[in-house]
Amino acid sequence: LVVLDDVNKHFGALHVLQDINLSIARGEVVVVIGPSGSGKSTLCRAINRLETIDSGSITLDGQPLPAEGKGLARLRADVGMVFQSFNLFAHKTVLQNVMLGPIKVRRKDKRAAEEKARALLDRVGVGNQADKYPAQLSGGQQQRVAIARALAMEPKVMLFDEPTSALDPEMINEVLEVMQQLAREGMTMVVVTHEMGFARSAANRVVFMADGQIVEEATPDQFFTNPRSDRARDFLSKIL
Ligand code: ATP
Ligand code: MG
Repeated sequence: LVVLDDVNKHFGALHVLQDINLSIARGEVVVVIGPSGSGKSTLCRAINRLETIDSGSITLDGQPLPAEGKGLARLRADVGMVFQSFNLFAHKTVLQNVMLGPIKVRRKDKRAAEEKARALLDRVGVGNQADKYPAQLSGGQQQRVAIARALAMEPKVMLFDEPTSALDPEMINEVLEVMQQLAREGMTMVVVTHEMGFARSAANRVVFMADGQIVEEATPDQFFTNPRSDRARDFLSKIL
């Protein structure tokens, strides 16, 4: 579904993505882990073109990523993204946050968008918060709204960049559970996370990045019990 072929990206002298080859199949859950600064966020951002690349190609459903205009807006809808910071519109209610994209980008009529938004808010467990503003919600609730907002666009793939890193510990699980559920339902997902429990139980594949390179790709079982590279072993010994 998503194919990265020999992708390179520099920030000045820094080679943040080095010959990245990665193919994500429909329905697959890929967890990306690695030390700070290894290029995980840049990789995610490149997939929905929040970041341009210097060489190589990225395709979604066999099509190169559109660079601008309507195509780009559609791409951003097709590739749902959830960030560490929840990025909700502060001056819109929870319900409005979730309805807005489908109306503007997918051209849904208001009634259909509202019905869908309410169903999604129920699904992530915040149906009773629909008329509140983001600031009135806990971090975990806001992040679940952010997930519902991305899902409202009916994305082909969901990218999560450390979605629980900014949350208080007691709220992490409620967000991970929503993600687990999504994974079980067959959503194609790329998840950057330090939550190794999630990686073990939800990932089909773990991608370990260091210094802008994919150093290792393995099933979670292989990766956590028997990492092949010294870098991965070293990383795991620090976080587990
Ligand atoms: P973390 O775990 O800390 O989130 P990461 O693996 O997500 O790290 P990236 O955010 O992709 O890493 O950054 C990779 C490298 O690129 C880092 O050295 C970072 O400082 C640098 N970098 C990221 N964005 C920019 C930018 N817009 N301009 C210049 N350098 C950048
Ligand atoms: Mg990052």
